Amino acid sequence: MSRLFAGTQWDREPHCPQCDQPEAKCQCPPDAGPQPLAVPNRAQKLKLRVEKRKQGKVVTVITGLSATKNNLPEVLKQLKNLCGSGGNLDGDTIELQGDHTTKLEAWWKKGP
Ligand SMILES: [Zn+2]
Repeated sequence: MSRLFAGTQWDREPHCPQCDQPEAKCQCPPDAGPQPLAVPNRAQKLKLRVEKRKQGKVVTVITGLSATKNNLPEVLKQLKNLCGSGGNLDGDTIELQGDHTTKLEAWWKKGP
């Protein structure tokens, strides 16, 4: 029985569009495009500051991580877990409720 696509361009196993290896041999990362980092690259300059908000509430403001290069919603989730507090994201700025600078500095130094 002849295969439907025998002799046509479809008669080859799927090849990777990036390295042109058969997919079984391909070693390319799943998507070679730049991916936002869920674990921020430590080459970036992380900036932490503590701000007082209304009713004497204190928040830790984290800047220096760009929203295009970092998966900030994912980073926020990790930091909320790390600090055990609520937080939110506004553009490139992450805010965590409470003063968590010590924890965050340790987290940043530890690296990925
Ligand atoms: Zn490949």
